[in-house]
Amino acid sequence: MVNSREPFKHIKRTIEMMRKINKIVIHCSATRSSMDVGVKEIRSWHVDGRGWRDIGYHVVVRRNGNIEIGRPLEMSGAHAKGFNKDSIGVCWVGGVNDQIKPENNMTSKQEQALWGVVKGFMEKFDLGKEDVVGHRDLPDVNKACPSFDVKEWLDKKQWFNGKDQEHKTGTLVKRKSTKHTKRRR
Ligand SMILES: [Zn+2]
Repeated sequence: MVNSREPFKHIKRTIEMMRKINKIVIHCSATRSSMDVGVKEIRSWHVDGRGWRDIGYHVVVRRNGNIEIGRPLEMSGAHAKGFNKDSIGVCWVGGVNDQIKPENNMTSKQEQALWGVVKGFMEKFDLGKEDVVGHRDLPDVNKACPSFDVKEWLDKKQWFNGKDQEHKTGTLVKRKSTKHTKRRR
């Protein structure tokens, strides 16, 4: 487990050398709430089950809110067809009910951890709200993943309101690392 507030501080520069990150794609594992799995199990499904070279996701958020690192960030993931090259795949564990129907059964610890991960990546890679999407929000995706409305979720975060205000009043957003990144928007 890593600190959800600054989970990837140390590897930012390595990633910048390898590929540009333009998007965060949120997924769910489509497992029942009773199923407590993490990177180890999902890696096994992807590597042993599907023959991939590694787990498809970069980050997995377990039921208890623990954050686990999957595929190295500097490598393209295998989670969103057509968008893997410049995105990060984040998967929360859960997302279906006992009948395997889509259900948002995210625990509050998971929600907090997921937000910590997303916020951290947004700051590190200078991404905006529109750069964070659910798998189902991508074109030609015919599935319910990640079983919740990412846009609606982000719209509720006060953090963005503060940022909007700062932008409006011309006050600089408190970012420490902008000198290393180019603004994309
Ligand atoms: Zn997905």
